[in-house]
Parts: sequence; C-alpha cells; structure tokens
Amino acid sequence: MSRSVLVTGGNRGIGLAIARRLAAAGDKVTVTSRSGAEIDGLTVARCDVRDAASVDEAFAVAEAAHGPVEVVVANAGVTSDQLLALMSEEAFTSVVDTNLTGAYRVVRRAVRPMIRLRRGRIIFLSSVVGLLGSAGQVNYAASKAGLVGMARSLARELGSRNITVNVVAPGFADTDMTAGLTPERKQAIVDSVPLGRTASADEVAGVVQFLAGPDAGYITGAVIPVDGGLGMGH
Ligand code: NDP
Repeated sequence: MSRSVLVTGGNRGIGLAIARRLAAAGDKVTVTSRSGAEIDGLTVARCDVRDAASVDEAFAVAEAAHGPVEVVVANAGVTSDQLLALMSEEAFTSVVDTNLTGAYRVVRRAVRPMIRLRRGRIIFLSSVVGLLGSAGQVNYAASKAGLVGMARSLARELGSRNITVNVVAPGFADTDMTAGLTPERKQAIVDSVPLGRTASADEVAGVVQFLAGPDAGYITGAVIPVDGGLGMGH
C-alpha cells in the first residue's frame, strides 16, 4: 500500500506508533505536531487542531508531498482532569475544542478530496472513558463520547462514497498522557482491567492499521475497544 495518510498528533505516543506502522507497510505518512519538529522517515506538518486555517495548511503539506489524503487518523487529544464542582468552564471548553471540535475541523477538511477519490478511511481515537465515564473527566469523557456520534453520523453520510468511518476506543495506554498519574491511581486502573496490564501504544496502533487496511473494507460506524476488557465491548 502506498497511500497518502495524515495522522494528527503523530509526533509522539499512540499517534507516532500509528504513523510508524503505516509507514513501515508502505504508506506515505504525514504527521502533525504543534512544534513542526522533524521526525525521521515521516513528513511533518505543523498544526494546531484548534485552528481551522492551521488544519488546512497541514492538509496542503500532505497533499503537496504525497497527493490527496486517503486515510485520516484524528488522534490529537488532551486531558484536563478535575471534579466537576471545581472544573472551570475554560477547562471544559478547551478539552472539547481540541478533542471533539478539533476532530470535526480535521474531517471537514478531509472529506471533499476523499469524495473526489471515491475512497477513504477515517479513524477517530476515542476512549473507553467516553463510554464508561470516569470521575474527574467530565470534559474528556464528553469529548470522547461525542466522537462516537460524529463518526456514526459521518459513516452514514459517506458510506455510498466508499469511505469508512470508525472509532478506536483505547483503555489505559502507556504514553505521556498517562505518565503523570500517581502509582496508586495507575495500580487502581490496572486492577480493574481483566487483562491486568496497560496497553502499549503499538497495540492500539495495530487496530488502527487494521481499520485502515483492506481487511476492514466492510466495517464502518464501528467502535473497537482496545482496553484489555475494561469496557467489555462497550
Ligand atoms: P499524548 O499526550 O502522548 O499525545 C497527544 C498528542 O496530541 C500529541 O501529539 C500532541 O501534540 C497532540 N495534540 C494535543 N493538543 C493538540 C492540538 N491542540 N493540536 C494538535 N495536536 C495536539 O497522547 P496519547 O498518545 O496517549 O493519546 C492519543 C489519543 O489517544 C488521544 O486522543 C487520547 O485521548 C487517546 N487515548 C489515549 C489513552 C491513553 O491511555 N494514553 C486512552 C484512551 C484514549 P504536541 O506534541 O504538539 O503537544
């Protein structure tokens, strides 16, 4: 496969693992980061998903380097945890702006060229938290649940154009996002996971690669958990 792929937040963590896998399989991968710093073997575009013009510029970089983007992975995400009673409106809206509205900006820019191509794959990174809920993460869980509704609506809009839209819902993966948790909190999470361990970024990336690949051609509107059993299929 040698498709033009764009992964938002592809400079580290799960996004980088996805980019590395797809590039190793022959795709021409553009990753976005806010710094724009170079990464070996990947095209890098500077992008902040809170800004539509910045998203547009990142797509222009990918298109100029590798042609119309055929696979989009909306992966960029942030947390800002706090119990609701203490959560500022800024903490709520900024997380939703990055995780949910940011994904909207990305797919809005992506779909027209895909419709012209008459093929495409869109994959959103949600979270088990969007489906199960999580105390202290009202903002994050709302944004991640929102992605499921967005993906399923888009799957209905784009199915006739040979474009699939799916969601991957990871549980606890070892990345910068989870590195700040206390050992006690991490242990409590691991204790609640049937497989009794956290995921590697690469285990999440493998599922994204499957959804982007030929064996997933008849899968759309799906939410695929990669959570060690934590959500039991939800
Ligand atoms: P990291 O914190 O390791 O990386 C986050 C990525 O998002 C970085 O590349 C970061 O870019 C990018 N990003 C953040 N804000 C913006 C923005 N405004 N514009 C553009 N890019 C931005 O996270 P993970 O790799 O762990 O997570 C990847 C995705 O998977 C996220 O959507 C996350 O919610 C989801 N997920 C993660 C889980 C986990 O346990 N790790 C569990 C469930 C879901 P930069 O380097 O420029 O800051």
